[in-house]
Amino acid sequence: MNQADGFDAVVVGSGPNGLVGAVMLARAGLKVLLLEAAAEFGGGLRSGPLTGLDGFTHDMCATVLPLTGASAAFRELDLKVDWAFPAVQAAHPLDGQDAVLVHRDIARTADGLGSRRDAIAWRQSVGAAAADGFGLVDSLLSPLSVPRAPVRLARYGALGALPATALGRGLFSGERGRAVLAGMSAHSMVDLRRPITGGYGLLLAALAHQVGWPVVRGGSARLAAELVALLASHGGTAEAGQPVGDLAEVPRAPIVLLDLTPRQVLAVCGDRLPPGYAGKLRRYRYGPGVFKLDWALSGPVPWRDPQVSGAATVHLGGSLAEIARGEADVAAGRHPERPFVLAVQPCAADRSRAPDGKHVLWAYCHVPNGSDVDMTAAIENQLERFAPGFRDLVIARAAHGPAALERHNENLVGGDIAGGYSGLAQFLRRPVLSARPWRTPLPGVYLCSASTPPGAGVHGMGGYHAARLALAELGSAAPVRAARG
Ligand SMILES: Cc1cc2nc3c(=O)[nH]c(=O)nc-3n(C[C@H](O)[C@H](O)[C@H](O)COP(=O)(O)OP(=O)(O)OC[C@H]3O[C@@H](n4cnc5c(N)ncnc54)[C@H](O)[C@@H]3O)c2cc1C
Repeated sequence: MNQADGFDAVVVGSGPNGLVGAVMLARAGLKVLLLEAAAEFGGGLRSGPLTGLDGFTHDMCATVLPLTGASAAFRELDLKVDWAFPAVQAAHPLDGQDAVLVHRDIARTADGLGSRRDAIAWRQSVGAAAADGFGLVDSLLSPLSVPRAPVRLARYGALGALPATALGRGLFSGERGRAVLAGMSAHSMVDLRRPITGGYGLLLAALAHQVGWPVVRGGSARLAAELVALLASHGGTAEAGQPVGDLAEVPRAPIVLLDLTPRQVLAVCGDRLPPGYAGKLRRYRYGPGVFKLDWALSGPVPWRDPQVSGAATVHLGGSLAEIARGEADVAAGRHPERPFVLAVQPCAADRSRAPDGKHVLWAYCHVPNGSDVDMTAAIENQLERFAPGFRDLVIARAAHGPAALERHNENLVGGDIAGGYSGLAQFLRRPVLSARPWRTPLPGVYLCSASTPPGAGVHGMGGYHAARLALAELGSAAPVRAARG
């Protein structure tokens, strides 16, 4: 059947998951076609002159990539990526005191928490999670496989199952430890009073020690370009500017991987899907959106605490209580006056992103899904709070609310950058409750986006799992080329 078009596998969407999935299939000897709707490959890995100024390179989406370094898929692919590491992995400024700094070194980070008790708590929680090779992170990024490190996973799980608010208050007596854990946990985009939000924070903090929080020199698009080149080196074909509106438009192939979220899967597969499965996809829940700003700056951000300049990632939102309040507001459909702001200054690691002396910066805050509220003032106020005079440096600014993000990439439904709500229920039911959630009821059609385990982030593991499952189930029936070779 595949002879008509000559492809063994077609991948729809070229985000990190689609790209990794395509490479895995091509490496196994399959003849692969990758179709991308946008003019450029990469999905969340695209870079460009967003502020319209020459010499300034902005990442539209992902910049800081600890999950890439930690991912079994990327370790296996062993790409030639020019990683740039900041001096400080993450910084969390606080009012009236020095910022909390997360270093590669566990002890140095722990010692900055302000008390011996909290230093010990950091070492025993985050430090322990970071301590042992990749066993724990592999188990977390392959949540439906037999755990590689069951004892460590159980120890991590006992803490990580908790809401970030309870974990922060339970582990740390002082504000410094509590706040930094809240900032890490808020990446989940889930109300910090909900279960497992503490686990997101613990994992991200542990990765700061284990693999660092690096950026790709020259922009995240270079990582996508490496993956496209690797696909080509294995005989794969990648075509941009090819939106797929219906499965019928996809060249016939035994394996189809969809790097799409449930809403688009419903549109593309139409009434081919059995009603029961389609109903589950319709009930899939999207999470909050983001409102993102990119700036071209005439100089470095004037942080009140100059040590913050060394970090590519800066969490702005003050205390655990304040961050939790802001995230609870968003979860309840409100726009916080003082939102948690995730700011990224790539120049802290990679000077190539802006002309000499100039800088780029981006920041987003969470907003209710589909919000059309302009959060520019709220975000810039948080920057001014910790970096007075910030606004004086702005040469140009680009704003992308949920609707603009979704126009950029249809997977960002309502501005949700995580491919779906990431609370406990949908951690296990992503997008359906199944031991093999990548498989759809349509023969040969698999899902591989961030709407499948292990969820959001640039780790490519959705693509890795989907491709391996497809190869195990259909690989021997599919390959035209492998069979010939
Ligand atoms: C503003 C922002 C900041 C982020 N920051 C970070 C970060 O610093 N670190 C990190 O690890 N993660 C970050 N993320 C999350 C990360 O980008 C995503 O989790 C990741 O890109 C998901 O990968 P994916 O392959 O599932 O989908 P995506 O990267 O979303 O790619 C999906 C692709 O499918 C294409 N597509 C959609 N519909 C169709 C169709 N019908 N036909 C053909 N093609 C189609 C899209 O155009 C897109 O290229 C960020 C995301 C955003 C938006």
